[in-house]
Amino acid sequence: MKTLGVYIHIPFCLRKCLYCDFLSGPAPLPVIERYVQALCREMETEAVQYKEYQVRTVFLGGGTPSVLSGEQIRRIFACLQDCFQTDPEAEITMEMNPGTVTKEKLEACRRAGVTRVSLGLQSGDNGELKILGRVHTWEEFLQSYRLCRDAGFAQINVDLISALPGQTADSWQTTLEKTVALEPAHISAYSLIIEEGTPFYKIYGKGRGTGMFAALPDEETEGRIDQITKQFLASRGYRRYEISNYAKPGAECRHNCLYWMRGNYAGFGLGAASMVENRRWFNLTKLDDYLSLQERETPGSCRAGEPYSLSLQEQMEETMFLGLRMTEGVSCQKFLHCFGRSMEEVYGKVLEKHRAAGLLEYNGQNVRLTDRGIDVSNYVLADFLLS
Ligand code: SF4
Repeated sequence: MKTLGVYIHIPFCLRKCLYCDFLSGPAPLPVIERYVQALCREMETEAVQYKEYQVRTVFLGGGTPSVLSGEQIRRIFACLQDCFQTDPEAEITMEMNPGTVTKEKLEACRRAGVTRVSLGLQSGDNGELKILGRVHTWEEFLQSYRLCRDAGFAQINVDLISALPGQTADSWQTTLEKTVALEPAHISAYSLIIEEGTPFYKIYGKGRGTGMFAALPDEETEGRIDQITKQFLASRGYRRYEISNYAKPGAECRHNCLYWMRGNYAGFGLGAASMVENRRWFNLTKLDDYLSLQERETPGSCRAGEPYSLSLQEQMEETMFLGLRMTEGVSCQKFLHCFGRSMEEVYGKVLEKHRAAGLLEYNGQNVRLTDRGIDVSNYVLADFLLS
């Protein structure tokens, strides 16, 4: 049986964070309820095309899925189980944000089969959280974390962001120490990206920030922060398995690995992306359009355009620039098997250039980034675009 990952998007948050460009925002409770109903209708309508697939991973992301009530969470997962063949051992992750987690919701998650919780902390420093426009403090995060543990969740991810305005190497080290002391199974540590269209872009889009706005760390501090992340987490038993993701042995996020390894995934909900058998499509991004299509007597397709078939060249590019994000790298044998051409034949010059510079290495089976290569991964990965 073929395998599938399922992503379900919940585009609601209590308030918009100042750096966020995700498809998310606050909404009144009746709109959230309409969305849950629309989402279930979409899954019911679309499921027919996945009859030959078994769902191995599910990710309920957002947004803030924990703004849903326990009853809404129950309904979404019940619909998923009714519509799809789900592996009894499936990894089922739900993203949650401090300030929206309750005992009742966590119980609903446990009963619905959620196996993994991903908590958005971002920083352990209340000053930095305020600058980011987060709705919670460190203490509120702690409370939510303990509720998750008390509810029996052993697999918890904590999301962190580094290179924040006003952040120093010391304050980042403190964030890591406070987080690791709680012993989550998984830590994601991304660097802040100033995205166009966000309030942060107005402040930091053209510089490091001045006046009343705390400055972004300079290059030297950023470098120091990266070193601390790598060394400190390794010293506490977290293996870096992807450029920004660290896990205790066996606690790697299977759903995200599926993306990096270009497995099949179906996305449901506003703006969700799908890629099945090398055909990619996206859902509509306007909430009103999505709701009204699903509320018709016969629901309409909520795809924004026709599926796009990836060319062989695009598949090879993705295999390299997604696969190399993982520290185990890309298997040369698998590349040959998928494309009928060796990696050396397609990428010989690029491989040679970065091997000679000490940024890539070959371990007899896989090509992977070296430690130095990870530090300049954007530069290396860009070279794998063939066009
Ligand atoms: S909670 Fe997450 S999705 Fe929501 S606004 Fe903040 S960063 Fe964006």
